[in-house]
Amino acid sequence: MGHCPLCGGNKEKGFTVFTVELGGGLLIVKGVPANICSQCGEKWITSDVAEKLEKIADDARKKKPELEIVSFEEAA
Ligand SMILES: [Zn+2]
Repeated sequence: MGHCPLCGGNKEKGFTVFTVELGGGLLIVKGVPANICSQCGEKWITSDVAEKLEKIADDARKKKPELEIVSFEEAA
């Protein structure tokens, strides 16, 4: 998985929370798989995960919620 380009720390598999603004509303996606630097906490998501997040955001946008909280596993 390699090292963090920012601090050289080890990247480890983990989960993060992803927040998207929906033009007036807010979408929070919990349990998003990410590689997280154990040293500085910087997070990276794969393009696969990014694509799914985009789809989740598109779906949420149609509902025009003020606040939508979903779990990545259920929504993806
Ligand atoms: Zn780092």
